Amino acid sequence: MSEQTIFDVFVIGGGINGCGIARDAVGRGYSVALAEMKDFASGTSSGSTKLIHGGLRYLEYYEFRLVREALMEREVLWAMAPHVIWPMRFVLPFHKGGMRPAWLIRLGLFLYDHIGGRKQLPPTRTLDMTRDPSGLPLKRLFTKAFEYSDGWVNDARLVVLNARDAADRGARVMPRTRVVSARRNDGHWAIETENTVTGARATLRARMLVNATGPWVDRVLADAIGKNDVHNVRLVQGSHIVVKKKFDDPRAYFFQNPDGRIIFAIPYENEFTLIGTTDHDFDGNPAEAHINDAEIDYLCKAASEYFTDPVTRDDIVWTYSAVRPLFDDGASKAQEATRDYVLRLEGENGQAPLLNVFGGKLTTYRRLSESALEKIGEAIGVKGRKWTAGSSLPGGDFPAAGYDAEVASLKARYPFLANSHARRLVRLYGTRAARILGKAASEADLGKRFGADLYETEVSWLIDQEWARRAEDVLWRRTKLGLKLSPAEAAELEEYIQGAANAAA
Ligand SMILES: Cc1cc2nc3c(=O)[nH]c(=O)nc-3n(C[C@H](O)[C@H](O)[C@H](O)COP(=O)(O)OP(=O)(O)OC[C@H]3O[C@@H](n4cnc5c(N)ncnc54)[C@H](O)[C@@H]3O)c2cc1C
Repeated sequence: MSEQTIFDVFVIGGGINGCGIARDAVGRGYSVALAEMKDFASGTSSGSTKLIHGGLRYLEYYEFRLVREALMEREVLWAMAPHVIWPMRFVLPFHKGGMRPAWLIRLGLFLYDHIGGRKQLPPTRTLDMTRDPSGLPLKRLFTKAFEYSDGWVNDARLVVLNARDAADRGARVMPRTRVVSARRNDGHWAIETENTVTGARATLRARMLVNATGPWVDRVLADAIGKNDVHNVRLVQGSHIVVKKKFDDPRAYFFQNPDGRIIFAIPYENEFTLIGTTDHDFDGNPAEAHINDAEIDYLCKAASEYFTDPVTRDDIVWTYSAVRPLFDDGASKAQEATRDYVLRLEGENGQAPLLNVFGGKLTTYRRLSESALEKIGEAIGVKGRKWTAGSSLPGGDFPAAGYDAEVASLKARYPFLANSHARRLVRLYGTRAARILGKAASEADLGKRFGADLYETEVSWLIDQEWARRAEDVLWRRTKLGLKLSPAEAAELEEYIQGAANAAA
């Protein structure tokens, strides 16, 4: 099938960078199409540590530009999406003779507090670990710690909210659509796509192509676009473990390991602790990255150096792995490779332009998108202006510090909701939670219950509004209820979704 429309911009990749660029572009008036071969955020963008952070340790590698930009983004992104992004305090314990002297850490945190346009986030303070509650779950090795600010993000939701907003503004957004080939033809791109569910193929045309496929960026250049000898990114795997809650404090820990690396232990989904990450070179298909025994042992051992109650394999309830697509700057160690992004525009002498996106962090996706739009303007003519700072993502149109008030207002409107249910819905959907609940006056009006507090109304919303087509889309990306549902409940959900999706088709 081939169609006549010529899109201005065709984006390959439905991770944070592809969805962010598509949203920014359509908001400026370009016609935009986006193809994602699987589900949104099924690549690296749901496998992160989920921090909106400057990246304290990147200061050690003199990444001042990146750190400053990332620090500035913390409050911008929080204001755009206060349901899925919120401030978090981090406790960084240190002891004499540790890897880094206290003055160096203090200097880093001084820069952290002062170079990044911090207005709402509280500054760094020093803690006496013999008295502060954050010292309680830790071994008595530390008398002091620094406590500093960064942010937390629900990474997979940040992606789907960008996709939703891009679609609401008129972009053609196509999940489960793989780009098989893209060829320059008559001053345009002819892009062949394959529906990965039905196998149906189509050809679409665009003036410009954006390759935002994260760790697949070189593969797409080689296999779909037909380039030889492509080696732009270094793939670095990072894995996390999720264990039963190790501490009650709402703050996260930043632990320094004797090997110079660092790990985080973060309060996660109320009942759990998220521990990660590892950092090692990866050679394979990014879709198949999974944690190995050495990484599990490393994370358990590293966390157990700090917690009085050791972290063991038996504590693990879930693991996930993802691959960082780092621009290959020739660094010798994986953790030293630059975390900054690089945008390369190709297409001279009237050739249809191609923009390749290398690297990037969730934290800088909005700024990366703005830079991409500058390149797009250069290549096919400028449209519109910067607009995303100060905008709201779907459901995020409430004050940055207004989460509790939003929960209270949802509870007032739907008094039958359990507190935890209302809190979960506002965290995921913000002001759109009320649209999901509609006219419901009692729990029975929410339809079938699949397990935990997941009901049919929410699942239908996720199918209709957020492109969910599998139980795993709902359980591991749109929500994290996979941590709560049993395998039998998940199977029943899968059956329900298949039925609902078929009925809609
Ligand atoms: C372990 C780890 C921890 C991290 N922690 C943080 C953190 O705490 N904070 C932070 O800011 N950043 C963090 N990052 C970095 C951040 O997660 C990534 O930089 C970001 O998610 C990359 O997004 P992306 O859109 O470039 O790639 P992806 O999310 O991988 O998206 C690329 C998409 O392209 C699709 N695709 C590939 N080929 C095709 C094709 N032929 N046709 C159609 N679609 C295709 C893939 O399916 C994929 O969904 C972390 C990364 C890792 C690995």
